[in-house]
Amino acid sequence: MIDGCGRTIDYLRLSVTELCNLRCVYCMPPEGICKRRHAEICSLEELEELAAACVELGVRKLRLTGGEPLVRKGILTLVERLAALPGLEELTMTTNGTLLPELAAPLRAAGLDRLNVSLDTLDPARYRALTRGGELDRVLAGLAAAEAAGFSDLRLNAVLLRGVNEGELGALARLAREHPWSVRFIERMPIGPAAGLGFLPASRVLEAVPELREQEAERGERGGGVARLYAAPGWAGTVGLITPMSCDFCGACSRIRITADGKLKLCLHSPEEIPLRGLRGAALRETVLAAVRRKPARHRLESAPSQSKRIMYEIGG
Ligand code: SAM
Ligand code: SF4
Repeated sequence: MIDGCGRTIDYLRLSVTELCNLRCVYCMPPEGICKRRHAEICSLEELEELAAACVELGVRKLRLTGGEPLVRKGILTLVERLAALPGLEELTMTTNGTLLPELAAPLRAAGLDRLNVSLDTLDPARYRALTRGGELDRVLAGLAAAEAAGFSDLRLNAVLLRGVNEGELGALARLAREHPWSVRFIERMPIGPAAGLGFLPASRVLEAVPELREQEAERGERGGGVARLYAAPGWAGTVGLITPMSCDFCGACSRIRITADGKLKLCLHSPEEIPLRGLRGAALRETVLAAVRRKPARHRLESAPSQSKRIMYEIGG
């Protein structure tokens, strides 16, 4: 698929649930979420049908997200079905990692290619506060289980938060010295409760770890990677900087998103949502194709908050 700006769109982020077993302060409101009725959320069959249509149209990389994708009942069956889609080159998932101790091996067996695990701090008390009750040990055990299951190319995602984890940037980055992981720092985007939290530019990571040197463009990402990659001599892994707030990003955007209730989002930060539920076959494919042609050229986060009608747990990041 080619959009109106000439960008190749071959990456779908599919949200499989809005529910989560954590309540991260930058993602969910303090009062908790207003749960959608069960019937409003796509069934596993509908999710598979939506993904299959996008793959037929040229999507080559599919990421499952949420909410927390691993709390979705039937997730292993969905992974197995999606992994079998002809034409799909990479099936990945973004998870908070807390259920990986039990699920890493079955996910691998079901055909998942790669995992991104979100981890913003290595301090158990800070983790509990940031996630409103999460146990850091579960994530660390999850990372070990993922490695043992054969997920060799693990990526860690850390959101940069002023006054929260800014003293830990060096410790987080240096996980990539000992482990063959890619530790990615993501600038906090002003969406939902995150808009009220302090911003920290990704350049602060380079100040905290001066031995880092920029690497070649990211491999394995289609349509131009979004992370700038760094490493230091002798390190087993890499450090990635993801800078959505400086808009060099949008020109290489290859993504579309589908929410758990079946709405197509062309840009994380645009208000437009295209309902896909109930459409099938040619009607579904034509609706997606026509929408992709209108994908916005860029977001305006540098001058205004996100225009999205939904916040992160409702989109999937
Ligand atoms: N529950 C899963 C997880 O936490 O990995 C998947 C969904 S979560 C919404 C996807 C990613 O979005 C996580 O890595 C999270 O840290 C990131 N995220 C959430 N809110 C954000 C914000 N305002 N700015 C930047 N990243 C954000
Ligand atoms: Fe849940 Fe992920 Fe949002 Fe945290 S960032 S509340 S783990 S969906």
